[in-house]
Amino acid sequence: MPLQLARVARRICSSASVRSLSAHTNRRLRVLVDMDGVIADFEGGFLKKYRQRYPHEPYISLEERRGFWVSTQYGELRSDLCEKAIGIWESKNFFIELDPLPGGVEAVKEMSRMENTDVFICTSPIKHYTYCPYEKFAWVEKHLGPDFLEQIILTRDKTVVTGDVLIDDKPDIHGAEPNPAWEHVLFTSCHNKHLPADPAQRRLLSWEDDWRGLLQSKRQRDPQEH
Ligand SMILES: [Mg+2]
Repeated sequence: MPLQLARVARRICSSASVRSLSAHTNRRLRVLVDMDGVIADFEGGFLKKYRQRYPHEPYISLEERRGFWVSTQYGELRSDLCEKAIGIWESKNFFIELDPLPGGVEAVKEMSRMENTDVFICTSPIKHYTYCPYEKFAWVEKHLGPDFLEQIILTRDKTVVTGDVLIDDKPDIHGAEPNPAWEHVLFTSCHNKHLPADPAQRRLLSWEDDWRGLLQSKRQRDPQEH
């Protein structure tokens, strides 16, 4: 090979390997964190407001909660209670006044400070949109700070969002994408803790659980990429 050509070839190879190295080091872990039932206490907030509004109606304690949909279980208790339940979270100030779940805000802040880690709040607003979307943004600003407003994904279909892991209390997450990019880690809540253990699905029992180890395992699973 003529000397000049060899030099050019070396330069091309060297810049390709630099690009490939930087692709490795720049590959970041993307964590999607659900809001209701994961960092915001939807179930506790619902029960408190339902009992305030309907002190003489029957209710379902958190220990008795089964199934993801609160309104379905209330409807089974008595058919008209389904609408009454829905009316609670469709009311003004329901979402903004939800308390943070223990350790959730601290965990999200900590993971957002981790190297090579991007955290997004990935949450589905209710279809009655008068208050909910606004209040979800306001909740994030209030508890996680204004900078976190850049990290919100509001979507009714989480399967079309890409990420490495989705921490969510809904046991079954379906949508337009049959093979979502993320691993769904089930966050334990009063409504799902009785479900039989599924060896194919990892759980976080609470924010006391080893979420740092979970993130680390996602990095290690694909060491070429993280
Ligand atoms: Mg949820």
